[in-house]
Amino acid sequence: GVIALLATGCGRGGTAEPAASDGADTGGQGQIVGVAMPTQQSERWIADGANVQSQLEELGYTVDLQYANDDIPTQVSQIENMISSGAEALIIASIDGTTLTDVLAQAGDAGIPVIAYDRLINGSPNVDYYTTFDNYQVGVQQATSLLTGLGVLDESGERTDEAGPFNIELFAGSPDDNNATFFWNGAMDTLQPLIDEGVLEVPSGQVEFEQAAILRWLPETAQERMENILTVIGDTRLDGVLSPYDGLSIGIISALTSGGYSTDALPVITGQDAEVGSVQSIIAGEQYSTIFKDTRLLAEQAVAMVDALLSGEEPEVNDTETYDNGELIVPSYLLESTIVTVDNYEEVLIESGYYDEGDL
Ligand code: BGC
Repeated sequence: GVIALLATGCGRGGTAEPAASDGADTGGQGQIVGVAMPTQQSERWIADGANVQSQLEELGYTVDLQYANDDIPTQVSQIENMISSGAEALIIASIDGTTLTDVLAQAGDAGIPVIAYDRLINGSPNVDYYTTFDNYQVGVQQATSLLTGLGVLDESGERTDEAGPFNIELFAGSPDDNNATFFWNGAMDTLQPLIDEGVLEVPSGQVEFEQAAILRWLPETAQERMENILTVIGDTRLDGVLSPYDGLSIGIISALTSGGYSTDALPVITGQDAEVGSVQSIIAGEQYSTIFKDTRLLAEQAVAMVDALLSGEEPEVNDTETYDNGELIVPSYLLESTIVTVDNYEEVLIESGYYDEGDL
């Protein structure tokens, strides 16, 4: 998958020529860009890092790419090192969006522009731009696919006469990741009216974000929570599980199968990121859906922002009202995501060149 991404992720302008060799028409000229990514435990961030790096290098930049193993102090010191070793711009996918205020003050003092990548960085005035997907809409899509899988919505998103009641359980992402509440709000705005109508029921009664959240998005924590819920609800069969991330879905599926569900009779389970293992699970009829976010395009936006800033131009944005980080509303460029099921994975993931058939 990563190989395919590198091969197709060339991005801007469509030329794969090493820009630094003639140096004529790019801003790059070897300027250093620091790229801080959260973890290599999830494929998506590996792809993000690889795409940002290759696209920056194509424009002639030198890239300092670091992964922080989901450890906050590690990420802080990586960013400090980037600043002290001469980075002229920073692209940061934060672990905890509230812990970078001090180090970003150093970047601000040094006049180094900061781009928040995928996750908003909160509480700091030194965040210049943000690029991400429409995170609220990702949550809407997760809930919509859950409802389609249950048969409450038809293909075109219209209500059917299916009245349930369906038993569902709800999972949310990491509370320190600003995206997690956007996903949750998008999903719950979609599901709550049906819970109110009695079409959906949550047998555990755990319907608050705080109850559903999984710190650091850890699959094993989701598995544990699912096991606990199964113990609490006893014989009640689940029809659906809202999961905001493929890694959590894997943990949830493990808990369900060890709890007595057979793999061909699992509840409708959602996800996010179209990670290889989860797409395989979708093909095998276990996980129902995922949300595909094309990391090639996100990388392209971040790289375009850096390149504009370092060339004295203004980056393109398409949202200036949504992402308030407590200090400013960060000008943002939002991309669109796509619901993937067994019905469209070939078109969305393979025909687009994101994966090779052999990857899946
Ligand atoms: C990203 C998701 C990802 C999650 C866990 C979020 O911030 O937007 O794509 O599933 O982190 O890595």
